[in-house]
Amino acid sequence: MPLLIGAIGDDVTGSTDLALMLSRHGMSVVQTIGLPPPDLVLRNAQAVVVALKSRTAPPTQAVADSLSACDWLLAQGARQIFFKYCSTFDSTEKGNIGPVAEALLERLGEAITVYCPAFPENGRTVYRGHLFVGEDLLSESSMRHHPLTPMTDSNLVRLLGKQVRNSQTVALVDYATVDRGPQAVRDRLQELAGRKCRHAVVDALTNRHLVVIGEACAGLKLLTGGSGVAMGLPANFRRAGLLADSTGPVSLPKLTGGTAILSGSCSAATQRQVGRMSAAGPSVCIDPLELAAGKPIIADIARWAASRVGEGSVLIYSTAEPEQVAAVQAQLGREAAGRLVEQAMGELALRLRQAGMRNFIVAGGETSGAVMAALQVRSLRIGPEIAPGVPWTVTEDEPQLCLALKSGNFGDDDFFAKALAMLP
Ligand code: ADP
Repeated sequence: MPLLIGAIGDDVTGSTDLALMLSRHGMSVVQTIGLPPPDLVLRNAQAVVVALKSRTAPPTQAVADSLSACDWLLAQGARQIFFKYCSTFDSTEKGNIGPVAEALLERLGEAITVYCPAFPENGRTVYRGHLFVGEDLLSESSMRHHPLTPMTDSNLVRLLGKQVRNSQTVALVDYATVDRGPQAVRDRLQELAGRKCRHAVVDALTNRHLVVIGEACAGLKLLTGGSGVAMGLPANFRRAGLLADSTGPVSLPKLTGGTAILSGSCSAATQRQVGRMSAAGPSVCIDPLELAAGKPIIADIARWAASRVGEGSVLIYSTAEPEQVAAVQAQLGREAAGRLVEQAMGELALRLRQAGMRNFIVAGGETSGAVMAALQVRSLRIGPEIAPGVPWTVTEDEPQLCLALKSGNFGDDDFFAKALAMLP
């Protein structure tokens, strides 16, 4: 099986979301956690998603890791590189979307790439270069309060202009062009490339638009976007005779030991999900200020959770309202507070696996990255879908684990109960 798509994701949950999209459209997909270890052997993979933790890393680090991932994917034979970021374009003025895409363009010797975070199924649309979350502009959505990447500008052309070397090289492919079909998009990209525009933000309001963009970009070596725009890519390879029919997702093994739900996301959807779950079952809340004060709460919580191994699920969360997060950040600093909670979640996951837990549901992109790093998970196969963008996954290494990694704003209010109900 030739490797067709080599993807680089800037966080773990977003990478899983992309892996699910490609799996849904008939590709056999492996996701690695972090840069692939040298001894990783790819078996039956038509797409590989390398999940980095580069979204909030210093830009130089994000660029270096992304280029290493790109080189590895090219060495494996990948025909097209996809740089995946969040459908809410999570980034700051320093990056990392612009700097990483610019470095990848140079490495691949390409003239132009596209930027399309739209995912209409999850309410993310791009209209005249402005990103909407449901009915609201991004800057008026709950993303303006994000603990690490507060999004206060919805104009992607302007935002990207601040992240790349020359703001004049960013332009828009508007919805009217996309609506006319793949040839119109190709023509516009060619015209932009002719004017030395290297970064094309592309409007998309519907799945049909995403499919059009995917088809129009069949000849590009590099695409960037959310998982939505990847939906049109498998069809390009099918048309070229390189991709046969679907192999489908892997089924979940029955693992003993109960399930830990670890929630470090403070996104609005996660707050509702945690509210539901904490009312329905055993739960405990982590206070970052107690962690910072050196209280032994990790050991206490691990002991409490371990005593319930085999008795269903436990919920451990630091999820809090924006005012509480702001108060914590005022005392500890934004990054230090984030790191402290992420480390705590990683440490808890490790202790619970040692205690015999084998199923983990993690809410939050950064949080999932920290938990995967602590558990030293190297690669995953994509299993059945829990909610749009969130599948169960199964680790390839021993001991086998079932993992559901949820990006903050994904899933209905009863997401956790739904995920638990799918376990065999
Ligand atoms: P999402 O997917 O919702 O963006 P992430 O896990 O990526 O979630 O990001 C949430 C960040 O907020 C993490 O760095 C996490 O450690 C931090 N965090 C979690 N709980 C709190 C809290 N109560 N106060 C401050 N920061 C927190």
